[in-house]
Amino acid sequence: MALVVHDTLTRSEREFVPRDPGKVSIYVCGVTPYNYCHIGNARPYLVWDVIRRYLSYKGYSVRYVQNFTDVDDKIIKRANEEGISALEVADRYIKEYFYDMDALGIKRADVYPRVTDHIPDIVAMVEKLIETGNAYVLDGDVYYSVESFPEYGKLSGRSLEDLKAGARVEVDARKHHPMDFVLWKASKEGEPAWDSPWGPGRPGWHIECSVMSLKYLGPGFDFHGGGSDLVFPHHENEIAQSEAATGTAFARYWVHNGFINMGGEKMAKSVGNVTRVRDIVKEYPGPALRYYMLSTHYRSPIDFNMEDMPAAQRGWERLRNLEENLDRALAGQETAMPQDLSSNAREFLSKLAEYRSAFEVAMDSDFNTAQASGVLFDLARDLNSYLAAGNITGERAAVLAKGRDLFLSLGEVLGLTGVDEGGQDRVMVDGLVRLVAELRQEARARKDYATADRVRDRLAELGIVLEDTSAGPRWRYN
Ligand SMILES: [Zn+2]
Repeated sequence: MALVVHDTLTRSEREFVPRDPGKVSIYVCGVTPYNYCHIGNARPYLVWDVIRRYLSYKGYSVRYVQNFTDVDDKIIKRANEEGISALEVADRYIKEYFYDMDALGIKRADVYPRVTDHIPDIVAMVEKLIETGNAYVLDGDVYYSVESFPEYGKLSGRSLEDLKAGARVEVDARKHHPMDFVLWKASKEGEPAWDSPWGPGRPGWHIECSVMSLKYLGPGFDFHGGGSDLVFPHHENEIAQSEAATGTAFARYWVHNGFINMGGEKMAKSVGNVTRVRDIVKEYPGPALRYYMLSTHYRSPIDFNMEDMPAAQRGWERLRNLEENLDRALAGQETAMPQDLSSNAREFLSKLAEYRSAFEVAMDSDFNTAQASGVLFDLARDLNSYLAAGNITGERAAVLAKGRDLFLSLGEVLGLTGVDEGGQDRVMVDGLVRLVAELRQEARARKDYATADRVRDRLAELGIVLEDTSAGPRWRYN
């Protein structure tokens, strides 16, 4: 069965055909590192982690690129509040981002391009868009002219007329069209700035993704992904910029994931209904949260409820326990398949083949992880019964080894087996640092500053930066 993907651009299910046979190229919009990730932020990266794992399982060689927007109004605001540079803010939260992703078992991208490392590339593309008549300069700013790109609106299904009618009245009157968006912003006092032909400034948000995806993947790469809130204007603008600059189609398939809601509203920092990844993985294993989120199809919303986490944990632990039990049962066993198989063995092997095909049917149907994880649990149930049904020797060991291979290979696609529980060590380390910080506070309270300083210095040597704040001690891992 062929892989079929729901494509936002054509609003249809399309068979996946890669640009280059045997290879898949993926670009996913990354985070703006100015705060900790909540699970709504994390969902696209989990979705894409599974998609790329499945594409690798199918035999493709996958190249995955995900950016960091490391200069932005929110980063600058936080840097000014804390009296540090924007770069320091971004560096700190990029580290925290990796901590959260590691806890969820999300594999690293092949490239993590950062905006501030690509300013000359961005300037070059803006120059090109001015040259092609798709952009214009306005007092040190550069704007994209949406009217210069006849297909503007094709991704989100909006027309320029509707957009004009819906535009707010306070729109900048200097712009040619209210939807024209900024490619290059002249810098204000106290903001990071780079030289450009239009004076000192910094890139607008949308241009970075056009520049960096094309640089690392080339035009017409296979998948462009992100949350469905990025369809308009971000991805619409990426298409307008890229296709005007290259004259060819930008990405072959547009894949957007649904939101995470909590209390009936989309999880967002601005709403205040956020649950941070680290707050969940302190209490529950990362793979349990992973399993929970994968139990819903990626395009559907998830109504997150912390009360569902214990059941998710029990579910994942069933898989983990089975994995351990299989290892124990098969340790030191001869697992070469004998020539003549009993009918029981043949029957079980054909059942395994059915599970594999059911799993692939689910994943080939627009990456239906909810259905695929159901198949994995059915397989686990049968393997548990098999283990319980008698001694694991001879033919039974050989057949069970096949079952284990299948279980691990499907589980690996969902990231639910073969889990390195290093993330759990981190929970332990967190608990120990909290204890040390409390003891240090007590030393300070009795004015034993020598001990307090020694503790802080020794922690720093271990890469743990402890800071005293008005809200008590805080720490981060360097
Ligand atoms: Zn983007």
